Amino acid sequence: NLHLAPIRGDEIEEIRGVVAVIGDITKLRQLESMRKDFVANVSHELKTPLTSIKGFIETLIDGAIEDRGAAQRFLGIIHQETERLNHIIADLLDLSKLESGRTELNVSTIDLDELVAEVVDAAENRLRAKNLELTLAIEAKVISGDEDLLREVIVNLFDNAMKYTPEGGAIKIGSAEGPEGVEVYVEDTGFGIPEESLPRLFERFYRVDKGRSREMGGTGLGLSIVKHIIERHCGKVAVSSKLGRGSRFSFIIPHQFDCEESHGTVE
Ligand code: ADP
Repeated sequence: NLHLAPIRGDEIEEIRGVVAVIGDITKLRQLESMRKDFVANVSHELKTPLTSIKGFIETLIDGAIEDRGAAQRFLGIIHQETERLNHIIADLLDLSKLESGRTELNVSTIDLDELVAEVVDAAENRLRAKNLELTLAIEAKVISGDEDLLREVIVNLFDNAMKYTPEGGAIKIGSAEGPEGVEVYVEDTGFGIPEESLPRLFERFYRVDKGRSREMGGTGLGLSIVKHIIERHCGKVAVSSKLGRGSRFSFIIPHQFDCEESHGTVE
């Protein structure tokens, strides 16, 4: 019993309302599914070291404790896995603080030469151990932003460059004044990243090579923390890479933090 009357103005408004509600529901569903994925990921990431800790403790209880050499080795692994749990939880707390917008930016004028020197000095031993050549090219000398948070960004990018570059490679840290703000970059001659992985790199827990990341003590959260911090500064992150050749990670900090979505996006 279908009859087609012309649609009145107020009915159009109602339809628009319904479409908007459906749009909102779709968005809510997506958020809900991301939240579920996240909980599943966190549980998995926490469970892996716990399973290993539990296994080694049981082996010790079952008698391995009598063998001094074995006991020492197992306790070493237990210690390492505990550190790993600690690291994951610290990163998760950082992320959750950033996402809730609870981190007030403590903005100051930052001397980039000094900040980078600080980060590099702390890594001297690791650079030497892997025989990595480091070049600095800090052309833009000052940025404004939260010094502690931006230090964390540079530490994370530099740390990754060292982790994912084989012995004898080279790393370059630089900055330059651009039209949108100051760009800071970290380049390496490391393993590089396959093209299809590039869009997912800043997602929580995303890793190109799980085994390699784990071996290096990675949590898969570093880049997602980086992205959040830069977005809190209304800036942008970027990556370009060639498999087997190296990678370039960069971020731009605008002169003014006047974006709407300054609390970062859920991912
Ligand atoms: P992780 O703790 O695993 O290093 P990140 O979030 O810092 O986590 O990085 C995510 C993934 O991106 C890494 O597991 C690695 O596969 C890749 N990646 C990050 N930086 C580099 C780099 N400089 N060279 C090659 N791959 C990198």
